Amino acid sequence: MKSARSFPTLRVLEDRFEAEGTFAEAQAAFLRPDEAAVRALDARLEAGRIGVVAHYYMDPELQGVLAACRWPHVHISDSLLMADRAVAFAKAGCRAVVVLGVDFMSENARAMLDEAGYAHIPVYRVASAPIGCSLAAAAETLTYQAWLAQAARSERSLHVVYINTSLRTKAHAHAKVPTITCTSSNVVQTILTAFAEIPDVRVWFGPDTYMGQNLARFFAALETLDDAEIRALHPAHDRATVRAVAARLASFQQGHCVVHHMFGADVVARARSEESGSFITAHLEVPGEMFELALEHKAHDRGVVGSTSDILAFITRKVREAVAAGDGKSPRFVLGTEAGMVTSIVREVRAVLRAHAGSGISVEIAFPVASDAVTASSDPELGVVPGASGGEGCTAAGGCATCPYMKMNSLEALGDVVERLLAESPEALRAFHPRTYDERLSGRTVAEVGSEPILHMRHFQRTGSLPAALVADVIGRRANERAPAG
Ligand code: SF4
Repeated sequence: MKSARSFPTLRVLEDRFEAEGTFAEAQAAFLRPDEAAVRALDARLEAGRIGVVAHYYMDPELQGVLAACRWPHVHISDSLLMADRAVAFAKAGCRAVVVLGVDFMSENARAMLDEAGYAHIPVYRVASAPIGCSLAAAAETLTYQAWLAQAARSERSLHVVYINTSLRTKAHAHAKVPTITCTSSNVVQTILTAFAEIPDVRVWFGPDTYMGQNLARFFAALETLDDAEIRALHPAHDRATVRAVAARLASFQQGHCVVHHMFGADVVARARSEESGSFITAHLEVPGEMFELALEHKAHDRGVVGSTSDILAFITRKVREAVAAGDGKSPRFVLGTEAGMVTSIVREVRAVLRAHAGSGISVEIAFPVASDAVTASSDPELGVVPGASGGEGCTAAGGCATCPYMKMNSLEALGDVVERLLAESPEALRAFHPRTYDERLSGRTVAEVGSEPILHMRHFQRTGSLPAALVADVIGRRANERAPAG
């Protein structure tokens, strides 16, 4: 009988797991790609010494073919790693790199190759038309420029810009206001660290309005936790300091991702109506309504908000309780965090079920995302897992996997560009180049200035602290003395 619930679900049993709905179909497409298509692509890529870097959110059929290729210069990841791999492929002797993703990703790859001395290695997109991103476009508007000008007039402003923006946006923003890039998985820590390390800082978050509103809700909800719980999230904060964060955080109000817009509220409404008997979990870094929902359930020991290990400990405890109850009732958990966590959950849950063999219990893990969102898993047994990766871009609310722009990348489109490349007809490929920028900002290229906010984020991810140069920039740049608007 078909389940009345609509989220993709993984059912974990003692000796196996079962996938439900479109996730199961996606898994089949990923794990059993068309062998002829794999062989043909492999041969053509090798013949042309062509590297391919693809974003996680390609559809499972395309990802399955790419993952099965034996040609070693094929890679699937988030956009930061995609750019790194493009450079590695050039170093390894690839003559061209094809980027499967949206346009700011191919721009990033182009910029990183230029920076690394590989300006002669061409980069190609797989569509002659723009492969846009409504969020990236929002940050290119005059409204965003005006909002940044307001930030520049304010003392000690730090602009935290979402990764899903063009290099040009990052460069022009950084010229106006000290800027650091963020992803959905590090935005909370970036903001909390900024408030801990820069006295009297004012943070301007953009362009994702939906995420900005969720962040405001998230920081307000933090005030309901006790000091110890807040310190577990960030050791420099307590109830008093998170109150100050809420008061000094501004977010842009006119930037929408078409997918989040459709799925954000819808997903949580569905979780409320379809998952009334389920346990609700949310990672502390998951902003928004999902966090609030888990917080409500936590009050009745029906949910948890916390770190990855808190969620794991909660699920394990509830599975043990279900086994001990001996009534054969199987627990179901809604997993409000990135999909990659499911591999460790499956391991722990199976260990409990095996220790109590014959209990008749299975455990359901539901993923609160659009039903066709799937992410490649490093676990060969799982292949793909439901849900959006939390690494960048989109949140547990939806996922770029459902994005119409992402879907412009297809196996056919990749094959077409590869054939044109092999035919060595540069004219036929002109429209497939990423956008480039001739303009200079204070004598530096857009790529140079636009890369800095990304490098600041990489420093933060490596060390857990903001770079000293960025902190000095925020403190040292006096209001109204910043570079003129570009
Ligand atoms: S789903 Fe991702 S790529 Fe698509 S518009 Fe939204 S942020 Fe941009």
